[in-house]
Order: sequence, then C-alpha cells, then structure tokens
Amino acid sequence: MSETRPLLEVKDLVKHYAVRGGVLRRQVGTVHAVDGVSFSLGVGETLGLVGESGCGKSTVARAVLRLVEPTSGSIKLDGTDIVPLSKSDLRPVRRSMQIVFQDPFASLNPRMTAGDIVGEPLTVHGLASGEEKQARVAELFHQVGLRPDQMKNYPHQFSGGQRQRICIARALALGPSLIVCDEPVSALDVSIQAQVINLLIDLQRDHGFSYLFIAHDLAVVAHISHRVAVMYLGRIVEIADKAELFANPRHPYTQALLASVPVADPKMKKLKPMVDGDVPSPINPPSGCAFHTRCRYVIDRCRLERPALAEAGTSHQVACWLNDGTGRPE
Ligand code: SF4
Repeated sequence: MSETRPLLEVKDLVKHYAVRGGVLRRQVGTVHAVDGVSFSLGVGETLGLVGESGCGKSTVARAVLRLVEPTSGSIKLDGTDIVPLSKSDLRPVRRSMQIVFQDPFASLNPRMTAGDIVGEPLTVHGLASGEEKQARVAELFHQVGLRPDQMKNYPHQFSGGQRQRICIARALALGPSLIVCDEPVSALDVSIQAQVINLLIDLQRDHGFSYLFIAHDLAVVAHISHRVAVMYLGRIVEIADKAELFANPRHPYTQALLASVPVADPKMKKLKPMVDGDVPSPINPPSGCAFHTRCRYVIDRCRLERPALAEAGTSHQVACWLNDGTGRPE
C-alpha cells in the first residue's frame, strides 16, 4: 500500500477478450489479459509495473484510462469510480489522466506542427486559444527542454528523444494528476533513455503528479519508481517498495527478472537465472499458480491452488505458496 494519500485505487480489475472462430464467429475461447489486479497509487508517487511482453501490463494501463473497457473491477480516481461513468461524464475526468505511449513517432500526427500537437488538448477542452494558447505551449516546450522556436517544426524534424518530449508536453497541457507512461523509453537509444527518465522525475518533483510507469525492464523502473509491482500472466505476483523489492525479492519470477538485470556493482550478488521458456498463452493459462510451468520451486499445491497476494514484510506482498510465512525460495 502507498503511504501517501491514494490518488488511484484499482480493485479486482479484469479484462477478458473473446476469441472468435468458425463461420458463425462463435466464441471459442477467452484471453485472460488482466485477471484480478489490485493496487493503489499515492499522490506524487510512481508505481512501476513490470513483466514480460504479454503479461497484461499495457492492458492495465489502457483500462485505467478507460481506453479499453474493463470486464469488471473498480478504478477510483480521487475516490470516484470511473468504470460506471458515461462517455460524457468521463470527459472532464480525462483531463486529470494522461498517457505517454511507447512510440513517440506513431503517436504524433505527422501533418501537425509540434506546437499544434501540444496545444490541441487546450483547444479540445476549451481552455485557451490565440496568444494565450501560444504562450502556454511555449511554456510547456520550455518545461520539457525544447525551445519555443521549435513549435513550428513537424515531428519528423525532431530526434526520437525530442519527439517523446513533445508527447510529454502534450500530456502536461491539461495539468493532469496522473500520467500513465506505457514503456515511454523502450523505443529510445539507451543514452537518451536516462535523459527522458530524469525529465519525468524533475517534472514530478515540480508538479507533484503521480506516474503509473509500465516497463518490461526492471533496470528502467528501478530509477524512477517508489514502488514496483511485478505482473505475470494477467496478475500481480509481487509488489513492494523499490528498495525492498530489489534487496529482498520473494517471488521466483521476480528473482528471475532481477537475475537478468546487468549488475554494475561487483559487490552485489548476482542471482542465477531460474526460469526457462516463454510465458504460457493467456487463452488457456495454467491451473493453480500460473508460474508453475516455469518455476523450479514448484510443489504439488502450486499446480492445484492459486496463491493470493499476501503480506511478506513491511510494504511487501507476494503471491507464492513458499512465502506464506514458512520460508522463501533461496
Ligand atoms: Fe513457484 Fe509455487 Fe511459488 Fe508459484 S506458488 S511461484 S509455482 S513456488
């Protein structure tokens, strides 16, 4: 749980997709993209959400913003459940929630100038026009490290890192309280990634908004997150304060992810890789603990019963039968 006032509270979030086949397009299966995810995010806090490709983390990101409709569950923003809201009731709430996507080039209209892109939300929501809008856009450019004279340029005239700065400026335009960052640096060169991450940290310090930060790379979330949640096949399997998670990973899957992170500190113990194969299909997820097909600690109970997230220390929860207070995998 976050110790700051909760801004976002997600409870039992489920997103299933029907798989259709045959001439009559009957439902022949169900993709369990997100299968009962709960977490909270405090004001001014960053929660990193990590996991392999296909684990459901981007679906969580989109469901939180209602860019995809949840199958069930609640999503409270500042105490208001936004799941039952109609499109018109959702519209003012959307001002508080923005997203930065992975591929800045794909998410920018190539026919619009950077200034028009950043100013568009102000126009759509009727917040500014004319010179007032231009001044606000110039200020946003300055905040993200771009020059106001670049407002007249088109997306193709910017580098990848600069394009992501344009996306961040657009996300800032409406003064959001929550920004969902969906793999925002994955498409950038490693040398640029740190610059964009540092920009996000500086902006949070100045403006106090919260980030839900999605990544497949623990090294990236390590730098920006206050807490980290690890997802596997549509569920959170471990969630803890960042320092605690990195120092004391309890779930075998988290240990495996950490083992794949390059270690710069020679004194730090390097964990042995302990997971093989690919993530099973979310159409037919394994019974019991979904990780049991890849876990080297598997016991009979793991194949039959699904472990729920349970306390595993201060600000630390884990879903594993070996962490029920009787011990932990070594
Ligand atoms: Fe491994 Fe069993 Fe723990 Fe799942 S519950 S992570 S299979 S030990």
